Parts: sequence; structure tokens; C-alpha cells
Amino acid sequence: MEVKKKDIRALTKEQLREFFVKHGDKAFRGNQVYEWLWQKSAYSFEDMTNISLETRQMLEDNFVINHIKVDQMQRSSDGTIKNAVRLHDDLVVESVLIPTASRTTACVSSQVGCSLDCRFCATARLKRMRNLNPDEIYDQVVAIDNESRLYHNRPLSNIVFMGMGEPLMNYNNVLKAIDKITSPEGLGMSPKRIVVSTSGVPKMIKKMADDNVKFKLAVSLHSAIDDIRTSIMPFNSTFPLHDLREALQYWYAATKNRITYEYVVWDGINDKRKDVEALVEFCKFAPSKVNLIEYNPIDDGEFQQATSKAIDMYVSILEANNITVTVRRSRGKDIDAACGQLANKS
Ligand code: SF4
Repeated sequence: MEVKKKDIRALTKEQLREFFVKHGDKAFRGNQVYEWLWQKSAYSFEDMTNISLETRQMLEDNFVINHIKVDQMQRSSDGTIKNAVRLHDDLVVESVLIPTASRTTACVSSQVGCSLDCRFCATARLKRMRNLNPDEIYDQVVAIDNESRLYHNRPLSNIVFMGMGEPLMNYNNVLKAIDKITSPEGLGMSPKRIVVSTSGVPKMIKKMADDNVKFKLAVSLHSAIDDIRTSIMPFNSTFPLHDLREALQYWYAATKNRITYEYVVWDGINDKRKDVEALVEFCKFAPSKVNLIEYNPIDDGEFQQATSKAIDMYVSILEANNITVTVRRSRGKDIDAACGQLANKS
């Protein structure tokens, strides 16, 4: 009977060191292999050239490296790149590189499909199949960092967890991946350049505050009126705005970090004055920033981008209430890489 080999990247550095001691080698060998696995992103044991052939064979006999594979890379006319990423069990997720004049951002996935059911989102149509492992999240970032260096001559500068999935529904693995991304033994990126974007799971937002995380938080709000939010994000009936706001107050009290809201204005859904006033009221308790995001229809025409008059109204009322507001144009529309469009269509 074939023995199922263990994913070596599920082991901590300490566990790797112990493995080598148990097999009659020096603990230090664990450090070397760990460096190959994370800092050098080795795809196979073969790559580990400063490890003896015999030891490499022993690793091969005991473990696998479940590296992701970029199956298909699409480049948009605006420089955006979308990767279709194949996982070891043949499932596929997508991640996106978004270049601007001053930064290169990776938008990464945290789940295969999504456990939530936002009606405007293409990913919601793929049911959640499983959570991504920390190494699968880390690999997406490494792949985009390599593409950024190759096609834009600069390293990746920022990461947003805004691809497929709700990151707070895969909290432990997302945290482990961020630990690796920010560790000097991984990519050494600053946590301040990482944004975890959630549709708002109150219990987990409080947990993040308790865990004293150093990355930034963004909330996909889209409406500050319960009935409307529930009609577009049905899970709002389980996690209503009152609970979300209470959790955000808790987060702000602990971190003193400004809260960013992602917000799409749709024609006939949330484009009235009362919608903006409810948003102002919701944001009041802490310094806030609202990103008004351009919407990309996902084919059935139920949701349409609001008029520029409605967007202007949002901007002027928010600014009059001292709330920072930016209007964000979507990128990579020609390759279905824009916000809410990730659905493994490539
Ligand atoms: S918007 Fe985000 S949370 Fe909502 S269904 Fe899509 S991927 Fe999931």
C-alpha cells in the first residue's frame, strides 16, 4: 500500500529541526531546508543543492512539496496580470497583480470558491470547496512578486486579501501565511502593506483585535442600511450592521487604526441621499476612509454601476463630513480580473 507523504511545508521550523535530529542528522539541517522551502521557494528537493543527495532522497521518501502551479497567466492592456493557479488537488483559484505608478499590489485568494453569497459577486457562484493552506496563499504572493519583477521591474509592494473567498472564514491559515510573508525568513514584507478585506464577520474582527495583528483591515460594506445590505449580502441577516459596528468599535479601541470601507454604488440599489447619510452615520465612531469602487457587471445585468451624479453626491457628502473618500477605477476588466469578477472563467 502506498503511504501518503506529508506536505513538508505544514511543518514548523522547530518540527523540521526535530525531524533531522530523529534521523541522525544535525538540527541545523532543518534550518537549511526551511530556508529552501520558504525564502528560496524551492519547487522540489532536487533544487536544494547544498543538501547531500542522500538527504534529499530521504526527504523525497518522506515528504512532498505541494507547490502551486500557475496554469495560465493573462495580461491586460493596462498591465494587470491574472493568474489561474492550480493546486495540488487540481482545484483552481485566481490571483491578480495590479500595477499603478507608485505600487504593485497582489490580490490573493484565501478559499476555493466562497462560503458567503454576495449577490453581485462572481466567486459566490462557485460554492466553497475548501480553505487554502498557508503555503498555497504564500505561493500566490511569491508568483506575483516574480511577475512584478519580470514585467514591471520592481518587487511587489502591497497585498490585499480580496480575491476569492472570505479571509476571516479561513482565519488561522491566513494568519499563518501572513506570518511567513512578513517574516525575514519568508518575504520580509511589512504588515502595514497588507490589507485583509472582510465582508464583516464580527466575532473574527474582535479576535483580530485580541490577537494584536499588525496588518490593516478593510470592510466590504456596500450599504449601511440593514434591509438593503441583507438583500445584496444575505449573510448580513446573521451578522447585522449593529454587530458589525460594535466589532469595529472594539477593533478601533484596540488598534487606533483608521477603518477602510470598500463600497460599490449600484444604480437603483444604494444611490440615494439616504444611503449616503446612513453611511456617514455608520462611519462616525472612528476615523474612516471610504473607497468607492467601480463595479464590473458579471453578466446578468441585475447590478449596474450607478451614475456619475450619484458618485459625486457620495463624494461631496462624505467630504463634508470629514470622511476621506477615494473613487477607485477597476483594473484588468478585459481579462475578468476586476473586483468581484474572479470566477475561474479563464
Ligand atoms: S464578495 Fe467576497 S465574501 Fe462576498 S461572495 Fe464574493 S468572495 Fe465571498
